[in-house]
Amino acid sequence: MVSRVIPVEDFDLVIFGGTGDLARRKILPGLYRRFCSGQMPETSRIIGAARGDLDDAAYQKLIGEAIAEFVPRDRQDKDKIKAFLKQLHFVPIDARGEKGWPDLAKLVRKDAVQAFYFSVGPGLFGDLATRLHDHKIAGPQSRVVVEKPFGRDLESAKALNAVLADSFDESQIYRIDHYLGKETVQNLMAVRFANVLFEPLWNAQYIDHVQITVAETVSVDGRGAYYDKSGAMRDMVQNHLMQLLCLTAMEPPSKFDPDAVRDEKLKVIRALDPVPADNIVRGQYGAEGKVASYIEHSENPETKTESFIAMKVDISNWRWKGTPFYLRTGKRLKARMSEIVIYFKETPHSIFEEDAGSHANVLTIRLQPDEGMDLRVTIKEPGPGGMRLVDVPLDMTFADALGPDAEDVPDAYERLIMDVIRGNQTLFMRGDEVEAAWKWTDPIIEGWQTRGDKPMPYEPGSSGPEDSLMLLHRDGRRWREIRK
Ligand code: NAD
Repeated sequence: MVSRVIPVEDFDLVIFGGTGDLARRKILPGLYRRFCSGQMPETSRIIGAARGDLDDAAYQKLIGEAIAEFVPRDRQDKDKIKAFLKQLHFVPIDARGEKGWPDLAKLVRKDAVQAFYFSVGPGLFGDLATRLHDHKIAGPQSRVVVEKPFGRDLESAKALNAVLADSFDESQIYRIDHYLGKETVQNLMAVRFANVLFEPLWNAQYIDHVQITVAETVSVDGRGAYYDKSGAMRDMVQNHLMQLLCLTAMEPPSKFDPDAVRDEKLKVIRALDPVPADNIVRGQYGAEGKVASYIEHSENPETKTESFIAMKVDISNWRWKGTPFYLRTGKRLKARMSEIVIYFKETPHSIFEEDAGSHANVLTIRLQPDEGMDLRVTIKEPGPGGMRLVDVPLDMTFADALGPDAEDVPDAYERLIMDVIRGNQTLFMRGDEVEAAWKWTDPIIEGWQTRGDKPMPYEPGSSGPEDSLMLLHRDGRRWREIRK
């Protein structure tokens, strides 16, 4: 199979916060990979704009070091790195003052695609948007990319949307949720809407329940004070898990067009039931040997913030009434694993003997590790004897199925940045979607605050608090094991 890389149009990409952690770890290594694949035109330019008195050469050196650190060694090619770095420029700028803006105005071309990546804290979005306009750098042709977190509640998300709307039309705003850039997430749409096999069964009549797990092994060490103001609900559920739920549950859009897809996702969010307190389990990891507990990492002895959450979510519409979605995410868990698992119902009647047991199909969509899908099907156990049944996976690990091409699959950031340049908003959150997600999230968090709910402790390296197992046990179901 030969993959096709279609070069994007000539562009100028300005990265505000171009010296920051995100730019060095994700954005620039990602752009380097697109450069290597031939997708980035040689005339395109990447302009770092941040505090600090660097010149082009110093910036190129900084990013050269970032590539050496964050791009796998076998992908580092000396000549290509050199050529890529030549396309980098730097403008020292103060988002809150006048420094650097006239220089940026001179540098950014009007006859190429213009994208402005706000890789800075949301407190600076307004300053950047206003100055881009005051200095006539941005216009109706520009695109602006903003990072998570997009607000911490409905009110702050509305305020951010308003600040951006003062300077840009919604069609110019690209709100990144990098989960949407993952290959498997898009494959979920391909599998659902490009095959006749699944969609007729994709409803409460045939699906018993859905599990969405995003498990991490890392702690919040080093960013505990920041994380403590957020917690798993704001940091993961309101955005990443919500997006995965939407893509799993949405109706087929009439076409694969940004607004058609986002309209359908929005309808799912609006159909989510409020979640009662006994359908939620929150946890905080404890200490293990020399590794500190969440409380120590957060630097707040009184903290009630959760580093783990499991919840049962119901969707009130014709397709899903009666089929719960169980969501779970946490830090310091047993393994790093993200997956969506669709549990189909058992056959209505078994023609085989009782000891053949009960069997049900299970479709697993793995986001990490080993992006891919498998479908558990029931077959006859080979060999003589009676009709014994066994469940086997029909495995489709992309790396195996697609051969060497799978290695050049762009990672989430690479793909999303190229989508910005192409002007395709399908995989970006729309303002009303983000607000609807907060509208559902806010009362849940307010409930904990009013009642003074405390998260339960859990052992590091476990699957979270025992009570999260009960959330499914009481419904006669079990979580899939969190495993490597
Ligand atoms: P960082 O602190 O490492 O870098 C901040 C950057 O902003 C620096 O380049 C700094 O020079 C620039 N900056 C700060 N104040 C400025 C000002 N007044 N004028 C001009 N430039 C200024 O931050 P980061 O980790 O790179 O995060 C950037 C944004 O991306 C944040 O909103 C963060 O929440 C979000 N984000 C980061 C990550 C990540 O992995 N680091 C992941 C998701 C989202």
